[in-house]
Amino acid sequence: MYIDGAWTEGRATEAVTITSPATGEALGEVPVATQADVDAAVQAAREGGRALEELTVYERAELLRRAADLIEASADEIARDLAMEQGKPWLTEAVEEVEETAGNFRMAAEDVKRLDTAVIPSERRGKMVFTFRKPNGVFAVVTPWNFPIMIPSELIAPALATGNGVVLKPSEFTPLAGRRLVELLHEAGFPRGSVNLVFGGREIGESLVTHDGVQAIAFVGSHTTGEAIVRAAGLKRTLIEASGNGPQIVLGDADLDAAARAAVEGAAYLAGQVCVATERVLVAEEAHDELVERVLALAGDVVLGHPLEQATTMGPLNNEPVAAKMDRHMADARERGAQVLLGGGRADGFPTDLYYEMTVVDVVGTDTLLFREESFGPVLPITTFRSDDEAIAMANDSHLGLQAAVFTSSLKRAFRYMHELRVGSIQINESTGYWEGRPPFGGAAGTKTGWGRIQLEDFTDLRTATIDYLNAHD
Ligand code: NAD
Repeated sequence: MYIDGAWTEGRATEAVTITSPATGEALGEVPVATQADVDAAVQAAREGGRALEELTVYERAELLRRAADLIEASADEIARDLAMEQGKPWLTEAVEEVEETAGNFRMAAEDVKRLDTAVIPSERRGKMVFTFRKPNGVFAVVTPWNFPIMIPSELIAPALATGNGVVLKPSEFTPLAGRRLVELLHEAGFPRGSVNLVFGGREIGESLVTHDGVQAIAFVGSHTTGEAIVRAAGLKRTLIEASGNGPQIVLGDADLDAAARAAVEGAAYLAGQVCVATERVLVAEEAHDELVERVLALAGDVVLGHPLEQATTMGPLNNEPVAAKMDRHMADARERGAQVLLGGGRADGFPTDLYYEMTVVDVVGTDTLLFREESFGPVLPITTFRSDDEAIAMANDSHLGLQAAVFTSSLKRAFRYMHELRVGSIQINESTGYWEGRPPFGGAAGTKTGWGRIQLEDFTDLRTATIDYLNAHD
């Protein structure tokens, strides 16, 4: 762990071995934090955050830029380690994740300098009313295993840019990438205690988010955990990014080649383990056969394999619980009469049981787990609709309103879907999986945060001051 500027075993009496989903080999060991370690990390973050706040915004920006440089200087090595720990193909996905990680530090370094606030016209003579921003204090940063270095950076960079102290608890499945990130932040020279790292699972996450010394929580993970955190956090500030069940809607007037490509990319990228993955394809009845033909041709080209092999376009799933969920969803779909057109199970002939076949399932009923829940695997469930009204109702029939895609050549229809789909972001003629670093991002179900400048605002406490300058003394 990393507490108050030093690497430590803390009070841990237990350690866990991290194994590669690609090969099953041991990659490293991390200690499991205790309550005493969480206390020490939170205390250090309080002091470290104060030291960070004392720096000018320009000095903080310089530290963030240095972090980005260091990440880029080791990008290849970080990406290889990430590929082995997470399972994602290094050439196409791990390298990209590392680049985005550096980009998050650069973006925060630039945006924080533009974080000005307003002077508000006063109702009275002789008074000046203005707002200013303060750090929230100590941020608990709790992250998932699908983007083990990029997601921590997405939350840590704005937290540090705005002068907060941070305690990171990375996922228990992929803690080594988080450790590497913190090593580089140490090297970049952030003030002692401003960044801390503790390891552990749900219990350590709980003790961190409920800690009296923590003022704010930045969480990315499942909907269920997000809800549990919001309940436990009471009135602490909570920034929550949670699960998706991304529908891709293909209208009868769509470019079907583009729609098929987007669907396959949206389900195969990171083997479907992305919050904005294409989780459901809803296609107009008249376009169904042609779309399925194109989807099958492209899905058949996905190369499942070892993450470090250049030919690989899809790696293994990250862990057994996510693979077991896919098994459950597929068994349920079969039971309810869906037709498996491609794949449908774990692949043979690989070093671990986590390699899952690229899967296409047709005639998926709205009562199936594939349709109703986030599957988080490489599966494209296809369902037909007869009208725009029906497509909108089907897409909105989910409590996870994160991101959706609509394929159409009609601007008028595109606008209707933009207004009527209950999602945080909508892609027109793009995959659900498309995202950029700066626009606001989040679910329509209350879990909205932003990226870029908007996000920085979330990491601060906006305060108001009134000065009665007519009565001011020297
Ligand atoms: P998860 O919710 O199981 O775990 C996320 C983190 O929360 C882990 O570090 C875990 O140890 C911790 N945790 C678990 N229970 C906790 C509790 N009660 N209190 C505090 N911390 C707790 O999620 P996961 O399986 O690691 O990640 C996959 C999920 O993340 C998917 O649902 C995916 O859609 C979502 N996700 C969302 C986004 C987004 O930006 N919206 C991005 C990536 C992943």
